[in-house]
Amino acid sequence: MPRFDRSHTDDLAAYIKASPTPYHACAEAGRRLEAAGFERLDETGEWQLEVGGYYTVRDGSIIAWRVNDPDIDGFRIFGAHTDTPAFKVKPRPDTGSAGWKQIAVEVYGGVPHQTWLDRDLSVAGRLVMRDGREVLVHVDRPLLRVPRLAIHLDRGVNEGQKLNAQSQLTPIWGLGQPRDGEFLEFIAAEAGVDANDVFGHDLFTVALDEPAYLGKDEELFAAWRLDNLTSTHAGIAALIAAEDTGANVPVLASFNYEEVGSMTYSGAQSPFLETVLRRLLADDFEAYARTIAASAMMSSDTGNAVHPNYPEKHEPGHRPIPGGGPMIKVSANQRYASGAEEQALFRRSAEKAGIPWQTYVNRNDIPGGTTIGPISGTQLGILTVDVGLPILSMHSARELCGAEDPGLLADLALGLFTH
Ligand code: ZN
Repeated sequence: MPRFDRSHTDDLAAYIKASPTPYHACAEAGRRLEAAGFERLDETGEWQLEVGGYYTVRDGSIIAWRVNDPDIDGFRIFGAHTDTPAFKVKPRPDTGSAGWKQIAVEVYGGVPHQTWLDRDLSVAGRLVMRDGREVLVHVDRPLLRVPRLAIHLDRGVNEGQKLNAQSQLTPIWGLGQPRDGEFLEFIAAEAGVDANDVFGHDLFTVALDEPAYLGKDEELFAAWRLDNLTSTHAGIAALIAAEDTGANVPVLASFNYEEVGSMTYSGAQSPFLETVLRRLLADDFEAYARTIAASAMMSSDTGNAVHPNYPEKHEPGHRPIPGGGPMIKVSANQRYASGAEEQALFRRSAEKAGIPWQTYVNRNDIPGGTTIGPISGTQLGILTVDVGLPILSMHSARELCGAEDPGLLADLALGLFTH
């Protein structure tokens, strides 16, 4: 029997299933927000902002907020990202070899190649039409596979093997001679549009395995895209619940393109968030400067839980474990934004939420990754703390976390919005 209320994690599983790409993650977030009374604003429209909940979407990034009191004191921003390492379909996908039809793909972000082999995969993404309309497509059934070479033909497979990303990761999707245009005709038909009107596409491979609870006591949870839909989903849940924030405006900002460096017109390095925040203050610079100085941001992303088979890879005094709650990520070199003021911000939020928490620090000889916290904090000049959920198998086609932790992360986000 599970020892905790599963409703949040069950809901996360549903969100992940509905969100195979950043575009779907924004659409599903929007659907949930609208069901809670939020209104979608178009960036090209004129914004009349009254008390209420709002959101806007740009190119796979979403910013949502609610004004509970029209005299805005500060912003409390929960940041996340919507994208995940995967394979992206090339502009001319139809290829093949030796009697097989294949799909040409590019590597998007830091993909551990081996985890994508011998899995049932599919494709999802967006099509942009001749008239500028964007159409989402999600083929929710097995379509592709990157087949492993049999062990008999590759006796060195267990001695470590490097795969060539150009020639050895190309998925198969059928037998016969490839025909130019066939794949996009298929995708257009799946989307219910005319292939001749598809003028652009962003299509990614999708890992189809269902999210699942693991272990004797089902205290673990496995799914694709835990990094970083757990944070996006936690932010949505907290924002919907954040009715009591006084003059602080709670904001969820979840960006596309984090896994490839955030440098796009919609990524964390873009002016997207700043533009939205300025519009909330009618572009009054004095009011904006005052409000930013009184604001705080929590950038949430997954982090590495201690691995039982490789404990030596982790800093001995700071070893987060699934089930122990969200962690603050500390780095003297500011790969994570977490100095003393930021640590106190984290502690206040966790205390308000009444949740357990942990601390993550990289080993000095293993520098580790970074995330949107230092980027957004620098861009906006807002006090920013990096937090996250400890997981195993980061960037794998199936990641693993503590089953209770996603709900604790949502509690932390609500603690940020309301402390
Ligand atoms: Zn991430």
